[in-house]
Amino acid sequence: MNFDRDYAMLIGGRLEHGSARFNVLNPATENVIGSAPNATRNDLDRAIDAAREAFPGWAATPIAARKAALVAMGQALMAHADGLKRLLTAEQGKPHADAEMEVMGAGYWLMGAAHLDLPVTVNEDSAERYSETRHVPLGVVGAIPPWNFPLLLAMFKVGPALLAGNTMVLKPSPFTPLSTLKFGELVKDILPPGVLNIISGGDALGPWMSSHKGFDKISFTGSTATGRRVMESAAPTLKRVTLELGGNDAAIVMPDVDVENVVEELFWAAFRNNGQICVATKRMYVHEDIYEPLKDALVAYAKTVKVGDGSEQGTQIGPINNEAQYARVVDLIQDAKDKGYTFLLGGDAVDVPGYFVPITIIDNPPEDSRIVQEEQFGPVLPLIRFDDYDDVVARANATEYGLGGSVWGKDEDKALAIAQRIASGTVWVNETQHLSPTAAFGGMKQSGVGVEGGLEGLLEYTNAQTIVRKKQPA
Ligand code: NAD
Repeated sequence: MNFDRDYAMLIGGRLEHGSARFNVLNPATENVIGSAPNATRNDLDRAIDAAREAFPGWAATPIAARKAALVAMGQALMAHADGLKRLLTAEQGKPHADAEMEVMGAGYWLMGAAHLDLPVTVNEDSAERYSETRHVPLGVVGAIPPWNFPLLLAMFKVGPALLAGNTMVLKPSPFTPLSTLKFGELVKDILPPGVLNIISGGDALGPWMSSHKGFDKISFTGSTATGRRVMESAAPTLKRVTLELGGNDAAIVMPDVDVENVVEELFWAAFRNNGQICVATKRMYVHEDIYEPLKDALVAYAKTVKVGDGSEQGTQIGPINNEAQYARVVDLIQDAKDKGYTFLLGGDAVDVPGYFVPITIIDNPPEDSRIVQEEQFGPVLPLIRFDDYDDVVARANATEYGLGGSVWGKDEDKALAIAQRIASGTVWVNETQHLSPTAAFGGMKQSGVGVEGGLEGLLEYTNAQTIVRKKQPA
């Protein structure tokens, strides 16, 4: 398979190049690396029709066969990790090593979903009647993942939706469509035609999907602002929605941590994938007893990290993925400068091609500053002092977001007690960002509606159906 060209949509089991195309850029160079089909409304209609036609057959396929298909798709991803990783780096910006981890993770996610089962609950089994509740597929699902982990976050949706017996139309982000289109080519002959359709397009395509009456559900991952619009446009047809939205995760670092041992992990908690992770540490609260040594160690470590083109050997952090996000991050840095906050590292624009922002760490900005209150989704970290646990928990929770968070400390009982007070869908103790296809993941408050992963995530792709049978007299 050639990963450098021929990016086509998958509609009804056929690869289609589309009547119009749009360019995709490499964020490290701003050069065009290829073009993707720009789906029309008619293409969307045909993809939904194909999914609708495939639905009864797929829903009736034994779950063991659906699981086998997920495993085969996961294996196909892993077998082509090298080509996919290069393509992912070229369109997303992340270093090759991270891109490979994403491709392998995407394969692992499909295989992991295959370990789940749909439960049947027996409600009553009496002399008069037998009643059970089972879980039946919804129908056709529209999946809209973002650009930070295009393949992995798409598989968060593909795995459970198909396992539950639904069919799907998947739309990658306009910034990162190419690896997902290649995934379509890879799995074309594994699935019956129409079970998974992949279409790419510009800004209009997402809203067409969320308002289209042909979908039974929209599963969306992206910003909170767009999530609200998705829910609004899904309302007239009462589509089910799962919304995985933004976050502003706090890390709380207790004074008993071993600074030298923990500093590397704390750095990557904030800067992995260039900070473009929904559950990246976006605010780091450090106890004042260790604030100075941790601050120095973090800055010293950050200076050893290589930022550059992800395709170059040794690069650890790539560019921001796209121009709009770059502008948002630069604007937050400018605001911090205008307010006179102290920069421990970074802050100055680099005059090179590509959307590069230097690793930036800001020293104890005020709690109400934009860099503390807003989701930066980029390589800028506010480091903040605290001295009182009640106060720091209140500050961690004083946000509309509730996606993740972490607590770091040797005293595990104390760390756990703090973790339990954080109002977020996931809280980690002494690690972060560990997710699993068999564990529920989702946001509280404005960070989302519903969950992905685990039995809870699988059931969101089903309707509960209760069958009640009155027993005949013997
Ligand atoms: P975004 O909200 O800007 O856009 C996401 C996608 O939505 C795009 O593909 C776009 O075409 C589409 N879209 C726009 N309007 C739409 C509409 N009305 N209906 C349907 N689709 C529409 O998000 P982004 O910039 O791609 O991603 C970054 C954000 O995603 C961050 O806030 C981040 O925290 C969040 N995120 C959340 C998770 C999670 O699991 N909770 C994971 C990754 C990223």
